[in-house]
Amino acid sequence: MKQNRRDFILNSGLIGGAFLAGGLSTETFAENFNIKKKNSKMKLSFKPYTLELKHVFTLAASSRTTTPVMLTQIEYEGLTGYGEASMPPYLGESHESAAKFLSKIDLTQFKNPFEIEKILDYVDRVDKLNTAAKASVDIALHDLVGKLTKQPWYKIWGYEKEKTPYTSFTIGIDTKEVVIQKTKEAEEFKILKVKLGRDTDKMMIETIRLVTDKPIVVDVNQGWKDKQFALDMLHWLNEKGVKMVEQPMPKEMIDENAWLTEKSPLPTFGDESVQRIPDVIKAHGVYSGINIKLMKCTGLREAHKMVAIAKSLNMKVMLGCMVETSCAISAVSQLSSQCEWADMDGALLIKNDPFIGTQVIEGKVVLNDSPGIGISKVMPH
Ligand SMILES: [Mg+2]
Repeated sequence: MKQNRRDFILNSGLIGGAFLAGGLSTETFAENFNIKKKNSKMKLSFKPYTLELKHVFTLAASSRTTTPVMLTQIEYEGLTGYGEASMPPYLGESHESAAKFLSKIDLTQFKNPFEIEKILDYVDRVDKLNTAAKASVDIALHDLVGKLTKQPWYKIWGYEKEKTPYTSFTIGIDTKEVVIQKTKEAEEFKILKVKLGRDTDKMMIETIRLVTDKPIVVDVNQGWKDKQFALDMLHWLNEKGVKMVEQPMPKEMIDENAWLTEKSPLPTFGDESVQRIPDVIKAHGVYSGINIKLMKCTGLREAHKMVAIAKSLNMKVMLGCMVETSCAISAVSQLSSQCEWADMDGALLIKNDPFIGTQVIEGKVVLNDSPGIGISKVMPH
């Protein structure tokens, strides 16, 4: 049998720089001969971490001072891609569920990290739900692939760095005195976000208006149950300089939300009602736009597609976040030039961010040119 080039080298022991000069690239050489100079298989690892909030975080239905996250990394050929799953308790994931899910993931079966679609299709099929845990793999893989190409994702996708939005900054539900204090502290932000859906709604807006005239966006978190009440509130809010409303009524109230959107003086955005791609189609005609979050939609791969689908349906796009580190914030910020509204204050709300990445400077999302999702670690975890 005729010896091919590979057999010849293997048999002759001709492994060295002299032969490399003969034509094979280092990568091809390593690939052909499975040389373990670096680990050429993707290795996923994960570690639970707890975010400590600067202030108590109050939503329509709950309050808390910490948020559990899972920090992931994928090592490959000497590079490390970082990812994160943020898991606010009301969404049903936890350190335990994420660890269970991630333990089932075997990335060593894939030879090529660039096969993002194939790899993430597999991750999605490993189990149902677990969208934040899936996002933690998606983000780490994107970070790794960006590092392999030495480019940030906003460039890979062809977006303009300068067109990033101003982020809103959330003022939580609180007493009048605290709301005044928090509004003053938020001076650098150009847009304030207010959580509504309680009997304090008008007090919240009126209190902020004592301090500033800047634009406000409101998130009702499904808190209004009556469509006429909701419409009356939207007219009142419109007069107070509110610019849009997120999830005004429960997601199950599809006809009522559609009715409200048709009559509303403000654009409406579906958040709780929009998780993944099929929900974008369902939201068409029900809301003016959608709020995309990596932790709901399994990560950047799907978020990028949802942006394209929403735009093709002439729907507005909002990019949101959970309380999360600069890892997930930097990931979603790679898409941020494509949205009308940005809610990317998640990392600003925590005391123990283990990463530095996309910054918010005078309220504007500012991307850097580091490859991947644009982060580096600032303390061990
Ligand atoms: Mg929301």
